[in-house]
Amino acid sequence: DLVPLRRALISVSDKTGLADLGQALAARGVELLSTGGTAQALREAGCDVTDVAEVTGLPEMMGGRVKTLHPAIHGGLLALREDPAHLQAMESHGIAPIDLLVVNLYPFEATVAAGADDADAIEQIDIGGPAMIRAAAKNYAHVAAVVDVEDYAALLAELDAQDGATSLAFRRALALTAFGRTAAYDAAVSGWMAETLGVFAPRRRVVGGRLAQELRYGENPHQRAAFYAETHPAPGVASASQLQGKALSYNNINDTDAAFALASEFPPGDGAACVIVKHANPCGAARGASALEAYQRARDCDPVSAFGGIVALNVPLDARTAEAILELFTEVVIAPGVDDEAQTLFAQKPNVRLLIAPGMADPAAPSLAVRQVAGGWLVQDADTRLVAPGDLKTVTARAPSEAEMRDMLFAWAVAKHVKSNAIVYAKGGATVGIGAGQMSRVDSARIAAEKARAMAEGLGLAEPPTVGAAVASDAFFPFADGIEALAAAGATAVIQPGGSMRDAEVIAAAEAHGLAMVFTGERHFRH
Ligand code: 5GP
Repeated sequence: DLVPLRRALISVSDKTGLADLGQALAARGVELLSTGGTAQALREAGCDVTDVAEVTGLPEMMGGRVKTLHPAIHGGLLALREDPAHLQAMESHGIAPIDLLVVNLYPFEATVAAGADDADAIEQIDIGGPAMIRAAAKNYAHVAAVVDVEDYAALLAELDAQDGATSLAFRRALALTAFGRTAAYDAAVSGWMAETLGVFAPRRRVVGGRLAQELRYGENPHQRAAFYAETHPAPGVASASQLQGKALSYNNINDTDAAFALASEFPPGDGAACVIVKHANPCGAARGASALEAYQRARDCDPVSAFGGIVALNVPLDARTAEAILELFTEVVIAPGVDDEAQTLFAQKPNVRLLIAPGMADPAAPSLAVRQVAGGWLVQDADTRLVAPGDLKTVTARAPSEAEMRDMLFAWAVAKHVKSNAIVYAKGGATVGIGAGQMSRVDSARIAAEKARAMAEGLGLAEPPTVGAAVASDAFFPFADGIEALAAAGATAVIQPGGSMRDAEVIAAAEAHGLAMVFTGERHFRH
């Protein structure tokens, strides 16, 4: 099973770690073959290198499109070393075996992500690299294929452990990574082509990505799990850096994603906002004059549920906010920055996970939402819409006041991120009651109001905060009973898509209770 490493072909776009690798291999007496730029870099690092052109007898040509596509290379990668016919072919054509292939591909994904034009993108489609990777990985019985800079250290450790050879188990594991890489690479190319042609093609996102984190378990301890990140993740949990705390769990990642997505609906330029999430639903969201105030108001919507929650801010975390957050048991905090004092405070609670995102997400940026069903995937455009004030249609005699309008729009943004059926009461830029995930809309309306009532009673407030609140419903009210429930809780304004068969009854109920109501013409199911 052990293959002594005698001859290696190195051809890398990303030259990170190349000098060290080349020197380490050369020190073990390994013969190095290489393509133009890689050979040059290795020589600069003091290594002896044979040019691939010397092996093929042909120069690199066509601007690099053809460098390694030659039997002298592919024969060396693909030959079975125990097969007499293969050995014979090698002998008669002067082909020498290659025991190690180190390739990383032209940076197609990064080039496209940077907004390159078609000609540049096409030139970044690596042809010889994937061909060699696939050849070496297919022949893992004899060849080790390294496709990731991060695996250089493991390669050298293997050579140390196996006295200058590689084991079958090691080569096989590399082959798995190698085919995963070429699959993701081609998926990126195909996805880019689909995008430029305006075709809806989900494959890129379904297949692409890299393993970001092995997770201890999934949603439950008996489920295995891992976290995969896109090659160029947008701001969010996949691109955030964790400053402290235990490793993120599967549920942490899912909940943090939900919290950050809602926080990103509120541009920092419009003031601070805070979201607290439990089980992927917000249990409080609020704007505030400061991050502290936003946090306190979000927490006060449902302080019982906020325990053990995930907190997302749209502005950097400061010391006063950090202090308030740390008073309550909190699983994860994510923000687009943190100051030194806040970080020092967090360091005293080392278990709390603190994530710093590289900025807020653009909620309007197009992306795909993928979900698995038995035997397939459901793929759709992510829900990037959010109604503008000008698109609203007032359907009651009374138009909403300015304050009601602000609260309706706030509640609407929150409702977009609450599992259906979603009912969100908001007042003064803070949620005061959230009904989530119920199978009937009227239940969501009642639960939200009942929670607000119980909360007010617990705090000894004179009246529940739903009195005078605006309410958002993620989809239309099928019956007037939902409106009755809102009116009973003291709400004064409603925002909802409209479009029910019984809209007339629903509007009549709103009129009867003096509610102002607007239709968005657009719903936000989230199932
Ligand atoms: P270098 O910087 O060494 O000149 O080029 C290294 C890159 O060339 C690697 O990313 C490798 O995947 C790619 N490469 C190697 N052989 C070929 C080939 O025959 N055609 C194309 N298009 N790319 C190749």
